[in-house]
Amino acid sequence: MAVVTCVNEGRALLARLFGEARNAVVLTGAGVSTESGIPDYRSPGGIWARFTPIEFADFVRSEASRLEDWRRRFVMKRDFDRAEPNVTHRALARLTRTGAIALLITQNIDGLHGRAGTAPERLLEIHGNGTHGSCLGCGLRAELVDLEAEIADTGIAPHCRACGGLVKAAVVSFGQAMPADALARCERAVQSCDLFVAIGSSLQVYPAAGLPLLARAAGAELVIVNGEPTGLDSRADHVLRGSVGEFFAGLD
Ligand code: NAD
Repeated sequence: MAVVTCVNEGRALLARLFGEARNAVVLTGAGVSTESGIPDYRSPGGIWARFTPIEFADFVRSEASRLEDWRRRFVMKRDFDRAEPNVTHRALARLTRTGAIALLITQNIDGLHGRAGTAPERLLEIHGNGTHGSCLGCGLRAELVDLEAEIADTGIAPHCRACGGLVKAAVVSFGQAMPADALARCERAVQSCDLFVAIGSSLQVYPAAGLPLLARAAGAELVIVNGEPTGLDSRADHVLRGSVGEFFAGLD
């Protein structure tokens, strides 16, 4: 495992690896969006410093938890609305368009990869998307702006206008199962990739954190780009340690 801290060396390495790859898979985490002004979870001042997570079971069971969850979602939505895709989002979108990246898997719920121009068929938001809501019963989409107005009006957490089910932000909450089809699609892509690049993730949240080792076991080259060490660095072929945006500058 080689640790690269020199920005020019890291950029050249990424350009070469993405240039040579026939079937790359990328996994991104919150560290890709901090340079757009969206805090990550674990860094000082991160989201966990502000909020302890609301478990899925609590959301389902308790009206008070639902109202608190919505209050937080609307705070986050304002962060998401203010943010613009940064150089890394743009570079990854370009690499999906050229075909270098077969699948971009993200743990992020901010919608910035889509806004940067990553085509929906190349993008898998495995923890969902926090920029809208959906019904837990029938999946009907609901817009946060309407849900916020409804809660302000009624003081009650919203129910689906089609089936009456509970509406929740369209994210995978703690304690909520990840959709099996999304997970299966991830695993298929990872098992056939020749390059796997994890970017801006502490690689502590499963099942996403298991994907780098799955890729390695399938024979892919493994690259980890992050500002601090991760528990999988010793298993990687290359570790790029430093600002994500600096390494991806020029690749957009
Ligand atoms: P994480 O907070 O655990 O890890 C982020 C990592 O990125 C940290 O190791 C941090 O040191 C590093 N980092 C932060 N900014 C960086 C930068 N500019 N350059 C290089 N490294 C940088 O986040 P995670 O691994 O994505 O997993 C936690 C969960 O957080 C995920 O489930 C995700 O859904 C959720 N989350 C999402 C958002 C978002 O949508 N933007 C924000 C916060 C948390």
